[in-house]
Amino acid sequence: MDNKIEDLSFKVKDLQSDSITYGKTSLGLMSFHIAFLIFDLIYGYTFMAFVNCLSISFYLVLYKLFKECKTRVKLIRLAKSIVYEIMIYMIFSTMFFGWDCGYQYWLFSMFCSYLFAYVAPDRTDAIRRASTVFFMCICLVAFVGLYIITKYVQLPYTAKQDDAIVVTTCIVNVILVFAAIGTYNNVYIRQMEYKYKMLHNIADFDQLTGLGNRYYMNDVLLEIENSRINKQNFCVAMLDIDYFKSVNDSYGHDKGDEVLKTIGKILNENLPEGVTPGRWGGEEFLIVAQPDISLEEFVNLLEIIRLKIKQVKFSTGEVDKTFSCTISVGVAQYNPNLSIPDIIKKADDNLYKAKKLGRDKLIYS
Ligand code: GH3
Ligand code: MG
Ligand code: MG
Repeated sequence: MDNKIEDLSFKVKDLQSDSITYGKTSLGLMSFHIAFLIFDLIYGYTFMAFVNCLSISFYLVLYKLFKECKTRVKLIRLAKSIVYEIMIYMIFSTMFFGWDCGYQYWLFSMFCSYLFAYVAPDRTDAIRRASTVFFMCICLVAFVGLYIITKYVQLPYTAKQDDAIVVTTCIVNVILVFAAIGTYNNVYIRQMEYKYKMLHNIADFDQLTGLGNRYYMNDVLLEIENSRINKQNFCVAMLDIDYFKSVNDSYGHDKGDEVLKTIGKILNENLPEGVTPGRWGGEEFLIVAQPDISLEEFVNLLEIIRLKIKQVKFSTGEVDKTFSCTISVGVAQYNPNLSIPDIIKKADDNLYKAKKLGRDKLIYS
C-alpha cells in the first residue's frame, strides 16, 4: 500500500484540468459552427447562418466562463448548457433542412445524457431525478413534434437540398450522435471517478496531517496479517507526543495542530518505502514496518525521527521565543503467538514504559 501523503490538492487540480478540457470542448464545438456558417453562406441559407452566429457567440462566452470557473457546481452547470445549445440548434436545423437530414437524432443523444444522469448512483434527490425525467420527456415530445412539423406544416424558412447532400448529412449526423452518446458516457464516468477519489480520500486519510487514518492503518495491518510472507520481523511502533496538552494550553489549539502537521510531515518525509506512518488518534501515531525491515533498522529509523522532532523549533508568537516537543515511542515485534491487537497492545505497553521512564525515549521488545 502506498504510504505517502495523499495529494490533498487534487480537488483544485482536477477542477483546473476539467475547466481546461471543457474550455477546449467549447472551442471545438465553436469551430464546427464556424464550418456550418461558411456552408450556410455558400448555399445562401441566411436563417441558419444567423443561428450559427448565435451558437458561435454562445461558445465564445462559454469558453471565457470555463476559464474563469472556480467551483465544480458552476463547472457542471456550464457544461450542461452545452446540451441545451445542441438541443436548440438541432431543433432549428431539423425544421430548416427537413426530417431526412437526420438532425432530430441528436435528441436521442440528449435523451441518453439525461438517462445517464437518472441512473447515476448519486442521484437520490427526488427533485433532481424528476427534472431529468422531465427533460427526457421534452426530448421525446420534441422528436415527435419535429416529425409532425416537418411532415405536415409548411414553414417559411426551409431549404431544398440535393438527395446526395441529404443522405450524407444524415449519415454524418447518425455517426456524430453515437460519438456524442459515448462522450456523455465518458463525462459521467469522470464525474463518478472524481466522487470516488474524494470519498476515498476522506475515508482513508487524516485531513490534518495527510497521513493514513486509523481505518487505513487497520487495512495495512490486515494486509500484512493475511499475506503469506514470513512475518518474523514485522514490527509496529506507537508514537505519542509528550505533554501535548500543555502545548494546546500554553500556545493554543492552532499551534497544537501545527505541531501535529509538522510531525506528520517529518514521518512522511523520513520513513523509507515499506514503513507506513498513520495517525492512530489524537496525538498518537502508529508506524508499521513491512517484514523485510529488521527490528534494529526500524529502531534506528525511529531514533532518527525522535531526534529530528526534538530539534524543530516552533514559534510561540512572541519575538525570539520558541518551544520544542519531544516524543515517546513504544516498539513491538511480531511473534506467532500474537494477534494484531496483541502486537499493538505490546507497542502501547512499551510506550507507557517510555512515559514512565521520563518520556523522550524509545522502548522496544
Ligand atoms: P503525555 O506526555 O502523557 O502523553 O501527556 P499529553 O498531554 O500529551 O497527553 P494527554 O492525553 O493528557 O493529552 C493529549 C492532548 O492532545 C489532549 C487533546 O486536547 C490533544 N489533542 C488531541 N487531538 C488533537 C488535535 O487534533 N489537535 C490539537 N491541537 N490537539 C489535540
Ligand atoms: Mg496520548
Ligand atoms: Mg501525549
